[in-house]
Amino acid sequence: MAQARKAVGRTTAKKSEGAGAAKARLSVKTYHNYIDGEWTRASCGETFENVNPADTRDCIGRFPLSTVEDMSRAIDSAKNAADRWRHTPAPRRAEMLFRLGEILMRHKERFAAEMTREMGKVLKETGGDVQEAIDCTYYTAGEGRRLHGFTTPAEMPSKFAMCVRQPVGLCGLITPWNFPMAIPSWKLIPALVCGNTVIIKPAEDTPLSTYNLVKACEEAGIPKGVVNMVTGDGGTVGAALASHPAVRLISFTGSTETGRVVASACAERNAICSLEMGGKNVIIVMDDADVDLAVEGAVWGAFGTSGQRCTASSRVVVHKKVYRKFTQKLVERAKSLRVGNGADPQTEMGPVINADAVHKILGYIETGQREDGATLATGGNRLDAGEYAHGYFIEPTVFSDVAPGMRIAQEEIFGPVTAVIPTNSLEEAVEIANGVRYGLSAAIYTQDVNRAFRAMEEMYTGIFYVNSSTIGAEVHLPFGGTKATGNGHREAGTQVLDIFTEWKSVYVDYSGKLQRAQIDVVEPQ
Ligand code: NAD
Repeated sequence: MAQARKAVGRTTAKKSEGAGAAKARLSVKTYHNYIDGEWTRASCGETFENVNPADTRDCIGRFPLSTVEDMSRAIDSAKNAADRWRHTPAPRRAEMLFRLGEILMRHKERFAAEMTREMGKVLKETGGDVQEAIDCTYYTAGEGRRLHGFTTPAEMPSKFAMCVRQPVGLCGLITPWNFPMAIPSWKLIPALVCGNTVIIKPAEDTPLSTYNLVKACEEAGIPKGVVNMVTGDGGTVGAALASHPAVRLISFTGSTETGRVVASACAERNAICSLEMGGKNVIIVMDDADVDLAVEGAVWGAFGTSGQRCTASSRVVVHKKVYRKFTQKLVERAKSLRVGNGADPQTEMGPVINADAVHKILGYIETGQREDGATLATGGNRLDAGEYAHGYFIEPTVFSDVAPGMRIAQEEIFGPVTAVIPTNSLEEAVEIANGVRYGLSAAIYTQDVNRAFRAMEEMYTGIFYVNSSTIGAEVHLPFGGTKATGNGHREAGTQVLDIFTEWKSVYVDYSGKLQRAQIDVVEPQ
Protein backbone atom coordinates (compact mmCIF):
# COMPACT_ATOMS: atom_id res chain seq x y z
CA MET A 1 0.00 0.00 0.00
CA ALA A 2 1.04 3.64 -0.09
CA GLN A 3 3.14 3.50 3.00
CA ALA A 4 3.64 1.40 6.07
CA ARG A 5 2.62 2.74 9.41
CA LYS A 6 4.37 4.63 12.14
CA ALA A 7 2.40 2.92 14.84
CA VAL A 8 0.97 -0.50 14.12
CA GLY A 9 2.85 -3.27 15.83
CA ARG A 10 2.32 -5.01 19.08
CA THR A 11 3.02 -3.04 22.24
CA THR A 12 6.31 -4.19 23.68
CA ALA A 13 8.75 -2.60 26.13
CA LYS A 14 11.67 -0.99 24.29
CA LYS A 15 14.96 -2.47 25.49
CA SER A 16 16.85 0.80 25.05
CA GLU A 17 14.38 2.87 27.10
CA GLY A 18 15.60 4.54 30.28
CA ALA A 19 13.59 4.21 33.53
CA GLY A 20 11.97 7.66 33.00
CA ALA A 21 10.78 6.88 29.50
CA ALA A 22 9.53 3.45 30.57
CA LYS A 23 7.56 5.06 33.42
CA ALA A 24 6.10 7.66 31.06
CA ARG A 25 5.00 4.85 28.76
CA LEU A 26 3.31 3.05 31.65
CA SER A 27 1.11 6.12 32.22
CA VAL A 28 0.01 6.20 28.58
CA LYS A 29 -3.77 5.96 28.18
CA THR A 30 -5.30 2.90 26.56
CA TYR A 31 -8.24 3.56 24.24
CA HIS A 32 -10.92 1.15 23.09
CA ASN A 33 -13.09 0.26 20.13
CA TYR A 34 -16.68 1.50 20.13
CA ILE A 35 -19.06 -1.38 19.40
CA ASP A 36 -22.78 -1.47 20.18
CA GLY A 37 -22.46 1.55 22.46
CA GLU A 38 -19.69 -0.06 24.56
CA TRP A 39 -15.99 0.81 24.73
CA THR A 40 -14.22 -2.53 24.35
CA ARG A 41 -10.67 -3.80 23.90
CA ALA A 42 -9.53 -5.93 20.98
CA SER A 43 -10.54 -9.58 21.40
CA CYS A 44 -6.87 -10.56 21.18
CA GLY A 45 -6.00 -8.00 23.89
CA GLU A 46 -3.29 -6.42 21.76
CA THR A 47 -2.70 -2.73 21.13
CA PHE A 48 -0.59 -0.45 18.97
CA GLU A 49 1.03 2.84 19.91
CA ASN A 50 0.10 6.22 18.51
CA VAL A 51 3.24 8.40 18.62
CA ASN A 52 3.90 12.08 17.98
CA PRO A 53 5.70 12.55 14.63
CA ALA A 54 7.37 15.72 15.94
CA ASP A 55 8.84 13.80 18.88
CA THR A 56 8.59 10.03 18.76
CA ARG A 57 9.41 9.76 22.48
CA ASP A 58 5.93 11.10 23.08
CA CYS A 59 3.44 8.22 23.04
CA ILE A 60 -0.09 9.59 22.83
CA GLY A 61 -2.05 6.44 23.48
CA ARG A 62 -2.50 2.75 22.88
CA PHE A 63 -5.28 1.65 20.57
CA PRO A 64 -6.80 -1.79 19.94
CA LEU A 65 -4.98 -3.84 17.33
CA SER A 66 -8.33 -5.30 16.40
CA THR A 67 -9.11 -8.64 14.81
CA VAL A 68 -11.49 -9.74 12.09
CA GLU A 69 -13.75 -11.01 14.89
CA ASP A 70 -13.92 -7.49 16.40
CA MET A 71 -14.90 -6.12 13.00
CA SER A 72 -17.62 -8.77 12.65
CA ARG A 73 -19.06 -7.76 16.03
CA ALA A 74 -19.12 -4.11 14.96
CA ILE A 75 -20.90 -5.03 11.74
CA ASP A 76 -23.48 -7.09 13.69
CA SER A 77 -24.02 -4.12 15.98
CA ALA A 78 -24.62 -1.78 13.01
CA LYS A 79 -26.97 -4.38 11.52
CA ASN A 80 -29.02 -4.63 14.72
CA ALA A 81 -29.36 -0.85 14.99
CA ALA A 82 -30.22 -0.30 11.31
CA ASP A 83 -34.03 -0.57 11.42
CA ARG A 84 -34.44 1.60 14.51
CA TRP A 85 -32.25 4.33 13.05
CA ARG A 86 -33.82 4.15 9.60
CA HIS A 87 -37.26 4.62 11.15
CA THR A 88 -36.17 7.55 13.32
CA PRO A 89 -37.54 10.59 11.43
CA ALA A 90 -34.77 12.46 9.62
CA PRO A 91 -35.42 15.76 11.50
CA ARG A 92 -34.91 13.85 14.81
CA ARG A 93 -31.70 12.30 13.51
CA ALA A 94 -30.54 15.76 12.50
CA GLU A 95 -31.24 17.20 15.97
CA MET A 96 -28.65 14.81 17.38
CA LEU A 97 -26.22 15.94 14.71
CA PHE A 98 -26.73 19.61 15.59
CA ARG A 99 -25.92 18.64 19.19
CA LEU A 100 -22.80 16.92 17.87
CA GLY A 101 -21.79 20.18 16.16
CA GLU A 102 -22.09 22.04 19.45
CA ILE A 103 -19.96 19.46 21.25
CA LEU A 104 -17.27 19.71 18.59
CA MET A 105 -17.34 23.51 18.90
CA ARG A 106 -16.93 23.27 22.66
CA HIS A 107 -13.88 21.01 22.39
CA LYS A 108 -12.37 22.54 19.25
CA GLU A 109 -9.15 23.73 20.90
CA ARG A 110 -8.44 20.45 22.68
CA PHE A 111 -9.25 18.37 19.61
CA ALA A 112 -6.95 20.55 17.49
CA ALA A 113 -4.10 20.27 20.00
CA GLU A 114 -4.50 16.48 20.18
CA MET A 115 -4.58 16.27 16.40
CA THR A 116 -1.35 18.27 16.11
CA ARG A 117 0.21 15.91 18.61
CA GLU A 118 -0.83 12.80 16.72
CA MET A 119 -0.18 13.87 13.12
CA GLY A 120 2.01 16.95 13.19
CA LYS A 121 0.29 19.72 11.23
CA VAL A 122 0.38 23.16 12.81
CA LEU A 123 -2.31 24.27 15.25
CA LYS A 124 -3.95 26.69 12.83
CA GLU A 125 -4.44 23.84 10.37
CA THR A 126 -5.71 21.32 12.91
CA GLY A 127 -8.14 24.03 14.11
CA GLY A 128 -9.27 24.22 10.48
CA ASP A 129 -9.65 20.43 10.36
CA VAL A 130 -11.96 20.42 13.41
CA GLN A 131 -13.80 23.46 12.00
CA GLU A 132 -14.42 21.56 8.78
CA ALA A 133 -16.08 18.80 10.83
CA ILE A 134 -18.20 21.45 12.59
CA ASP A 135 -19.16 23.09 9.27
CA CYS A 136 -20.02 19.69 7.80
CA THR A 137 -22.15 18.84 10.82
CA TYR A 138 -24.22 22.03 10.73
CA TYR A 139 -24.54 22.10 6.96
CA THR A 140 -25.45 18.46 6.54
CA ALA A 141 -27.73 18.27 9.58
CA GLY A 142 -29.89 20.85 7.77
CA GLU A 143 -30.67 18.05 5.32
CA GLY A 144 -32.72 16.41 8.06
CA ARG A 145 -35.51 18.78 7.04
CA ARG A 146 -34.81 18.59 3.31
CA LEU A 147 -33.46 15.32 1.87
CA HIS A 148 -35.40 16.38 -1.17
CA GLY A 149 -36.81 13.99 -3.69
CA PHE A 150 -38.97 15.20 -6.58
CA THR A 151 -42.31 14.78 -8.25
CA THR A 152 -42.78 14.65 -11.98
CA PRO A 153 -45.76 14.19 -14.35
CA ALA A 154 -46.80 10.64 -15.19
CA GLU A 155 -47.69 9.64 -18.75
CA MET A 156 -51.20 8.45 -17.72
CA PRO A 157 -54.12 10.39 -16.30
CA SER A 158 -54.91 9.90 -12.60
CA LYS A 159 -51.40 8.71 -11.93
CA PHE A 160 -48.80 10.35 -9.72
CA ALA A 161 -45.02 9.94 -10.03
CA MET A 162 -42.35 10.82 -7.50
CA CYS A 163 -38.85 9.92 -6.42
CA VAL A 164 -37.73 9.48 -2.81
CA ARG A 165 -34.37 8.79 -1.22
CA GLN A 166 -33.88 5.69 0.89
CA PRO A 167 -30.90 4.85 3.11
CA VAL A 168 -28.35 2.45 1.70
CA GLY A 169 -28.02 0.37 4.88
CA LEU A 170 -24.73 -0.51 6.56
CA CYS A 171 -21.86 1.79 5.56
CA GLY A 172 -18.16 1.07 6.09
CA LEU A 173 -16.03 4.22 6.31
CA ILE A 174 -12.29 3.83 5.73
CA THR A 175 -10.28 7.01 6.25
CA PRO A 176 -6.71 8.38 5.89
CA TRP A 177 -4.56 10.15 8.47
CA ASN A 178 -4.05 13.60 6.92
CA PHE A 179 -7.51 15.02 7.81
CA PRO A 180 -8.29 12.74 10.71
CA MET A 181 -11.48 14.48 11.88
CA ALA A 182 -12.65 16.35 8.77
CA ILE A 183 -12.65 13.32 6.45
CA PRO A 184 -14.41 10.92 8.85
CA SER A 185 -17.02 13.66 9.45
CA TRP A 186 -17.57 14.15 5.69
CA LYS A 187 -18.62 10.52 5.56
CA LEU A 188 -20.17 9.96 8.97
CA ILE A 189 -22.53 12.96 9.13
CA PRO A 190 -24.20 12.49 5.73
CA ALA A 191 -24.40 8.71 6.29
CA LEU A 192 -26.25 9.31 9.56
CA VAL A 193 -28.62 12.04 8.40
CA CYS A 194 -29.62 9.76 5.52
CA GLY A 195 -30.54 6.99 7.98
CA ASN A 196 -27.61 4.59 7.64
CA THR A 197 -25.64 2.92 10.41
CA VAL A 198 -21.84 2.94 10.19
CA ILE A 199 -18.59 1.26 11.07
CA ILE A 200 -15.52 3.53 10.93
CA LYS A 201 -12.01 2.19 10.43
CA PRO A 202 -9.67 5.15 11.04
CA ALA A 203 -6.10 5.34 9.76
CA GLU A 204 -3.51 3.61 11.93
CA ASP A 205 -1.55 6.85 12.38
CA THR A 206 -4.43 8.96 13.69
CA PRO A 207 -7.00 6.99 15.68
CA LEU A 208 -7.27 9.64 18.43
CA SER A 209 -9.01 12.31 16.31
CA THR A 210 -11.59 9.80 15.10
CA TYR A 211 -12.00 8.57 18.68
CA ASN A 212 -12.75 12.20 19.67
CA LEU A 213 -15.39 12.42 16.94
CA VAL A 214 -17.03 9.13 17.93
CA LYS A 215 -16.92 10.03 21.64
CA ALA A 216 -18.74 13.27 20.73
CA CYS A 217 -21.38 11.20 18.88
CA GLU A 218 -21.93 9.23 22.08
CA GLU A 219 -22.26 12.46 24.08
CA ALA A 220 -24.73 13.82 21.50
CA GLY A 221 -27.03 10.88 22.27
CA ILE A 222 -26.73 8.97 19.01
CA PRO A 223 -28.20 5.57 19.93
CA LYS A 224 -25.99 2.55 20.51
CA GLY A 225 -25.03 0.54 17.47
CA VAL A 226 -25.58 3.41 15.04
CA VAL A 227 -21.93 4.49 15.08
CA ASN A 228 -19.19 1.89 15.59
CA MET A 229 -15.42 2.34 15.46
CA VAL A 230 -12.79 -0.37 15.08
CA THR A 231 -9.10 0.56 15.04
CA GLY A 232 -6.19 -1.46 13.70
CA ASP A 233 -4.39 -2.59 10.61
CA GLY A 234 -5.92 -1.73 7.23
CA GLY A 235 -4.92 -5.04 5.68
CA THR A 236 -6.75 -6.90 8.47
CA VAL A 237 -9.78 -4.99 9.77
CA GLY A 238 -10.06 -2.60 6.79
CA ALA A 239 -10.06 -5.56 4.41
CA ALA A 240 -12.60 -7.42 6.60
CA LEU A 241 -14.91 -4.41 6.46
CA ALA A 242 -14.53 -3.96 2.70
CA SER A 243 -15.33 -7.60 1.99
CA HIS A 244 -18.14 -8.27 4.49
CA PRO A 245 -21.37 -9.30 2.75
CA ALA A 246 -23.60 -7.29 5.12
CA VAL A 247 -21.85 -3.99 4.38
CA ARG A 248 -23.75 -2.39 1.52
CA LEU A 249 -21.44 0.56 0.90
CA ILE A 250 -17.79 1.38 1.41
CA SER A 251 -16.77 5.02 1.44
CA PHE A 252 -12.99 5.13 1.17
CA THR A 253 -10.46 7.95 1.20
CA GLY A 254 -6.78 7.13 0.83
CA SER A 255 -4.19 6.24 -1.78
CA THR A 256 -5.11 5.17 -5.30
CA GLU A 257 -3.34 1.83 -4.70
CA THR A 258 -5.41 0.92 -1.63
CA GLY A 259 -8.54 2.30 -3.28
CA ARG A 260 -8.14 -0.22 -6.08
CA VAL A 261 -7.95 -3.10 -3.57
CA VAL A 262 -11.04 -1.81 -1.76
CA ALA A 263 -12.94 -1.36 -5.04
CA SER A 264 -12.14 -4.95 -6.08
CA ALA A 265 -13.44 -6.28 -2.76
CA CYS A 266 -16.67 -4.31 -3.28
CA ALA A 267 -17.02 -5.43 -6.90
CA GLU A 268 -16.88 -9.08 -5.81
CA ARG A 269 -20.19 -8.69 -3.99
CA ASN A 270 -21.73 -5.77 -5.94
CA ALA A 271 -21.41 -3.37 -3.04
CA ILE A 272 -21.48 0.38 -3.63
CA CYS A 273 -18.03 1.90 -3.45
CA SER A 274 -17.14 5.58 -3.27
CA LEU A 275 -13.44 6.39 -3.64
CA GLU A 276 -11.49 9.59 -2.94
CA MET A 277 -7.84 9.00 -3.77
CA GLY A 278 -4.52 10.59 -4.69
CA GLY A 279 -3.66 13.80 -6.51
CA LYS A 280 -0.90 15.59 -8.43
CA ASN A 281 -2.34 19.06 -8.40
CA VAL A 282 -1.15 22.03 -10.36
CA ILE A 283 -0.96 25.80 -10.21
CA ILE A 284 -0.62 27.58 -13.57
CA VAL A 285 1.04 31.01 -13.34
CA MET A 286 0.54 33.19 -16.43
CA ASP A 287 2.74 36.12 -17.51
CA ASP A 288 0.08 38.61 -16.38
CA ALA A 289 -0.27 37.09 -12.89
CA ASP A 290 0.24 38.94 -9.63
CA VAL A 291 3.50 37.09 -8.98
CA ASP A 292 3.65 37.77 -5.24
CA LEU A 293 0.12 36.45 -4.81
CA ALA A 294 0.98 33.38 -6.90
CA VAL A 295 4.06 32.74 -4.76
CA GLU A 296 1.96 32.90 -1.58
CA GLY A 297 -0.52 30.47 -3.14
CA ALA A 298 2.27 28.10 -4.18
CA VAL A 299 3.88 28.19 -0.71
CA TRP A 300 0.58 27.49 1.05
CA GLY A 301 -0.33 24.81 -1.50
CA ALA A 302 3.03 23.03 -1.45
CA PHE A 303 4.00 23.27 2.22
CA GLY A 304 0.69 23.45 4.12
CA THR A 305 0.33 20.16 6.06
CA SER A 306 3.95 19.58 4.95
CA GLY A 307 2.63 18.85 1.45
CA GLN A 308 0.57 15.93 2.75
CA ARG A 309 -2.77 16.98 1.30
CA CYS A 310 -4.54 15.24 -1.52
CA THR A 311 -4.93 18.75 -2.98
CA ALA A 312 -1.29 19.83 -2.40
CA SER A 313 0.23 22.02 -5.14
CA SER A 314 3.03 19.67 -6.06
CA ARG A 315 3.46 21.21 -9.56
CA VAL A 316 3.67 24.84 -10.61
CA VAL A 317 3.60 25.50 -14.35
CA VAL A 318 4.98 29.01 -14.90
CA HIS A 319 5.04 31.17 -18.03
CA LYS A 320 8.61 31.76 -19.19
CA LYS A 321 8.20 35.54 -19.02
CA VAL A 322 7.82 35.44 -15.22
CA TYR A 323 9.58 32.13 -14.59
CA ARG A 324 12.83 33.48 -13.10
CA LYS A 325 11.12 36.06 -10.93
CA PHE A 326 8.55 33.56 -9.66
CA THR A 327 11.06 30.78 -8.96
CA GLN A 328 13.44 33.11 -7.14
CA LYS A 329 10.67 34.40 -4.87
CA LEU A 330 9.28 30.91 -4.26
CA VAL A 331 12.72 29.64 -3.25
CA GLU A 332 13.24 32.60 -0.91
CA ARG A 333 9.88 31.99 0.79
CA ALA A 334 10.50 28.23 1.07
CA LYS A 335 13.87 28.90 2.70
CA SER A 336 12.32 31.30 5.19
CA LEU A 337 9.63 28.88 6.45
CA ARG A 338 9.96 28.04 10.11
CA VAL A 339 9.91 24.23 10.39
CA GLY A 340 9.23 22.67 13.79
CA ASN A 341 6.76 21.13 16.18
CA GLY A 342 3.26 22.13 15.05
CA ALA A 343 2.28 22.76 18.66
CA ASP A 344 4.54 25.85 18.69
CA PRO A 345 2.48 28.79 17.37
CA GLN A 346 5.60 30.14 15.59
CA THR A 347 5.91 27.01 13.47
CA GLU A 348 4.86 27.32 9.83
CA MET A 349 5.50 23.72 8.74
CA GLY A 350 5.42 20.61 10.91
CA PRO A 351 6.88 17.12 10.46
CA VAL A 352 5.76 14.45 8.02
CA ILE A 353 3.72 11.56 9.35
CA ASN A 354 6.17 8.69 9.91
CA ALA A 355 9.51 7.07 9.12
CA ASP A 356 8.19 5.47 5.94
CA ALA A 357 7.03 8.85 4.69
CA VAL A 358 10.53 10.27 5.31
CA HIS A 359 12.01 7.39 3.36
CA LYS A 360 9.59 7.76 0.46
CA ILE A 361 9.94 11.57 0.20
CA LEU A 362 13.76 11.51 0.39
CA GLY A 363 13.67 8.79 -2.29
CA TYR A 364 11.72 11.11 -4.61
CA ILE A 365 14.13 13.98 -3.88
CA GLU A 366 17.02 11.73 -4.88
CA THR A 367 15.12 10.62 -8.00
CA GLY A 368 14.52 14.26 -8.91
CA GLN A 369 18.23 15.00 -8.77
CA ARG A 370 19.70 11.82 -10.24
CA GLU A 371 17.22 10.08 -12.50
CA ASP A 372 15.23 13.11 -13.59
CA GLY A 373 18.06 15.65 -13.68
CA ALA A 374 15.99 18.56 -12.38
CA THR A 375 17.60 21.40 -10.41
CA LEU A 376 17.25 21.19 -6.65
CA ALA A 377 16.66 24.90 -5.99
CA THR A 378 16.29 24.62 -2.22
CA GLY A 379 15.79 22.04 0.54
CA GLY A 380 16.16 18.34 -0.11
CA ASN A 381 17.37 17.24 3.31
CA ARG A 382 16.03 15.56 6.38
CA LEU A 383 16.34 17.77 9.47
CA ASP A 384 17.53 15.60 12.33
CA ALA A 385 19.75 17.67 14.61
CA GLY A 386 18.86 19.63 17.75
CA GLU A 387 15.12 20.25 18.09
CA TYR A 388 14.51 17.94 15.13
CA ALA A 389 16.40 14.94 16.54
CA HIS A 390 13.35 12.91 17.54
CA GLY A 391 10.94 13.80 14.75
CA TYR A 392 10.26 13.29 11.06
CA PHE A 393 11.25 16.66 9.59
CA ILE A 394 12.13 17.43 5.99
CA GLU A 395 13.15 20.81 4.55
CA PRO A 396 10.68 22.61 2.28
CA THR A 397 11.97 21.55 -1.13
CA VAL A 398 11.68 23.22 -4.54
CA PHE A 399 12.80 21.68 -7.82
CA SER A 400 13.11 24.02 -10.81
CA ASP A 401 13.59 23.32 -14.53
CA VAL A 402 11.39 20.27 -14.21
CA ALA A 403 10.14 18.59 -17.39
CA PRO A 404 6.49 17.47 -17.35
CA GLY A 405 7.29 13.77 -17.86
CA MET A 406 9.74 13.47 -14.95
CA ARG A 407 8.69 11.18 -12.10
CA ILE A 408 8.68 14.07 -9.61
CA ALA A 409 6.20 15.83 -11.94
CA GLN A 410 4.01 12.76 -12.40
CA GLU A 411 3.82 10.82 -9.13
CA GLU A 412 2.22 11.76 -5.83
CA ILE A 413 5.10 12.48 -3.41
CA PHE A 414 2.89 13.49 -0.48
CA GLY A 415 5.58 15.60 1.18
CA PRO A 416 6.96 19.16 1.20
CA VAL A 417 8.25 19.02 -2.38
CA THR A 418 7.11 21.04 -5.36
CA ALA A 419 8.20 21.01 -9.01
CA VAL A 420 8.40 24.22 -11.07
CA ILE A 421 7.86 23.62 -14.78
CA PRO A 422 8.40 26.34 -17.43
CA THR A 423 5.83 26.91 -20.18
CA ASN A 424 5.40 29.09 -23.29
CA SER A 425 1.63 29.50 -23.43
CA LEU A 426 -1.69 28.82 -21.77
CA GLU A 427 -2.42 25.99 -24.23
CA GLU A 428 0.85 24.26 -23.38
CA ALA A 429 0.31 24.88 -19.64
CA VAL A 430 -3.10 23.22 -19.77
CA GLU A 431 -1.69 20.25 -21.66
CA ILE A 432 1.04 19.82 -19.04
CA ALA A 433 -1.45 20.33 -16.22
CA ASN A 434 -3.80 17.64 -17.58
CA GLY A 435 -0.92 15.31 -18.41
CA VAL A 436 -0.96 13.28 -15.19
CA ARG A 437 -3.01 10.28 -14.12
CA TYR A 438 -4.81 12.19 -11.36
CA GLY A 439 -7.50 14.90 -11.59
CA LEU A 440 -8.28 16.43 -8.22
CA SER A 441 -7.48 20.15 -8.06
CA ALA A 442 -5.99 22.85 -10.31
CA ALA A 443 -5.53 26.62 -10.12
CA ILE A 444 -4.60 29.50 -12.40
CA TYR A 445 -3.12 32.87 -11.54
CA THR A 446 -3.94 35.46 -14.22
CA GLN A 447 -5.56 38.89 -14.48
CA ASP A 448 -7.24 37.94 -17.76
CA VAL A 449 -10.79 36.67 -17.32
CA ASN A 450 -10.74 35.01 -20.74
CA ARG A 451 -7.68 32.94 -19.85
CA ALA A 452 -9.17 32.06 -16.47
CA PHE A 453 -12.38 30.77 -18.04
CA ARG A 454 -10.51 28.97 -20.83
CA ALA A 455 -8.40 27.10 -18.24
CA MET A 456 -11.48 26.39 -16.10
CA GLU A 457 -13.14 24.82 -19.14
CA GLU A 458 -10.12 22.78 -20.25
CA MET A 459 -8.83 21.41 -16.93
CA TYR A 460 -10.19 17.91 -16.32
CA THR A 461 -10.26 18.12 -12.52
CA GLY A 462 -12.96 18.01 -9.85
CA ILE A 463 -11.91 21.33 -8.33
CA PHE A 464 -10.62 24.52 -9.95
CA TYR A 465 -9.46 27.83 -8.45
CA VAL A 466 -8.78 31.25 -9.98
CA ASN A 467 -6.14 33.40 -8.23
CA SER A 468 -6.14 31.07 -5.25
CA SER A 469 -4.15 27.96 -4.35
CA THR A 470 -5.19 24.35 -5.04
CA ILE A 471 -6.38 23.89 -1.46
CA GLY A 472 -9.30 25.43 0.40
CA ALA A 473 -12.44 23.36 -0.23
CA GLU A 474 -15.65 24.44 1.51
CA VAL A 475 -18.17 21.88 2.76
CA HIS A 476 -21.18 23.10 0.81
CA LEU A 477 -19.53 22.47 -2.57
CA PRO A 478 -18.95 18.98 -3.96
CA PHE A 479 -15.47 17.57 -3.38
CA GLY A 480 -13.70 14.91 -5.41
CA GLY A 481 -11.66 14.25 -8.50
CA THR A 482 -11.46 12.64 -11.91
CA LYS A 483 -9.28 9.87 -13.40
CA ALA A 484 -7.15 8.04 -10.78
CA THR A 485 -8.42 10.38 -8.04
CA GLY A 486 -11.99 9.11 -7.92
CA ASN A 487 -14.67 6.85 -9.31
CA GLY A 488 -17.29 9.44 -10.16
CA HIS A 489 -18.76 10.22 -6.74
CA ARG A 490 -18.56 13.54 -4.91
CA GLU A 491 -18.42 14.11 -1.16
CA ALA A 492 -19.69 17.28 0.56
CA GLY A 493 -22.36 19.58 -0.89
CA THR A 494 -25.76 18.03 -1.46
CA GLN A 495 -24.08 15.68 -3.95
CA VAL A 496 -22.87 13.51 -1.05
CA LEU A 497 -26.49 12.50 -0.48
CA ASP A 498 -26.28 10.55 -3.72
CA ILE A 499 -23.59 8.38 -2.13
CA PHE A 500 -25.47 7.64 1.07
CA THR A 501 -28.98 7.19 -0.35
CA GLU A 502 -30.49 5.25 -3.20
CA TRP A 503 -33.35 6.54 -5.33
CA LYS A 504 -36.74 4.89 -5.25
CA SER A 505 -39.20 5.80 -8.02
CA VAL A 506 -42.80 5.63 -6.84
CA TYR A 507 -45.92 5.46 -9.08
CA VAL A 508 -49.38 5.94 -7.58
CA ASP A 509 -52.27 5.06 -9.87
CA TYR A 510 -55.61 6.40 -8.60
CA SER A 511 -57.57 5.78 -11.84
CA GLY A 512 -59.10 2.56 -10.53
CA LYS A 513 -58.23 0.68 -13.72
CA LEU A 514 -55.22 -1.02 -15.30
CA GLN A 515 -53.13 1.57 -17.18
CA ARG A 516 -50.18 0.10 -19.08
CA ALA A 517 -47.20 2.40 -19.51
CA GLN A 518 -46.00 2.82 -23.12
CA ILE A 519 -49.03 0.79 -24.35
CA ASP A 520 -52.23 2.54 -23.32
CA VAL A 521 -51.32 5.82 -24.99
CA VAL A 522 -53.65 8.69 -24.12
CA GLU A 523 -54.45 10.76 -27.21
CA PRO A 524 -54.60 14.57 -26.91
CA GLN A 525 -58.22 15.80 -26.57
P1 NAD B 1 -3.78 4.56 2.58
O1 NAD B 1 -4.38 4.16 1.29
O2 NAD B 1 -2.49 3.97 2.94
O3 NAD B 1 -4.78 4.22 3.79
C1 NAD B 1 -6.10 4.71 3.82
C2 NAD B 1 -6.95 3.82 4.71
O4 NAD B 1 -7.08 2.54 4.10
C3 NAD B 1 -6.36 3.57 6.09
O5 NAD B 1 -7.38 3.60 7.06
C4 NAD B 1 -5.79 2.17 5.97
O6 NAD B 1 -5.72 1.47 7.18
C5 NAD B 1 -6.82 1.52 5.06
N1 NAD B 1 -6.35 0.30 4.38
C6 NAD B 1 -5.09 -0.05 4.07
N2 NAD B 1 -5.09 -1.24 3.43
C7 NAD B 1 -6.38 -1.64 3.31
C8 NAD B 1 -7.03 -2.78 2.73
N3 NAD B 1 -6.35 -3.74 2.15
N4 NAD B 1 -8.37 -2.83 2.80
C9 NAD B 1 -9.10 -1.84 3.37
N5 NAD B 1 -8.54 -0.76 3.94
C10 NAD B 1 -7.19 -0.65 3.91
O7 NAD B 1 -3.72 6.15 2.57
P2 NAD B 1 -3.08 7.14 3.65
O8 NAD B 1 -1.60 7.01 3.62
O9 NAD B 1 -3.77 6.98 4.96
O10 NAD B 1 -3.52 8.57 3.06
C11 NAD B 1 -2.80 9.24 2.07
C12 NAD B 1 -3.47 9.10 0.73
O11 NAD B 1 -4.82 9.52 0.82
C13 NAD B 1 -2.85 9.98 -0.33
O12 NAD B 1 -2.75 9.27 -1.54
C14 NAD B 1 -3.84 11.14 -0.47
O13 NAD B 1 -3.81 11.79 -1.72
C15 NAD B 1 -5.12 10.42 -0.23
N6 NAD B 1 -6.18 11.35 0.18
C16 NAD B 1 -7.18 11.63 -0.72
C17 NAD B 1 -8.16 12.54 -0.38
C18 NAD B 1 -9.27 12.87 -1.36
O14 NAD B 1 -10.29 13.36 -0.92
N7 NAD B 1 -9.12 12.63 -2.65
C19 NAD B 1 -8.13 13.17 0.87
C20 NAD B 1 -7.10 12.85 1.75
C21 NAD B 1 -6.13 11.93 1.40
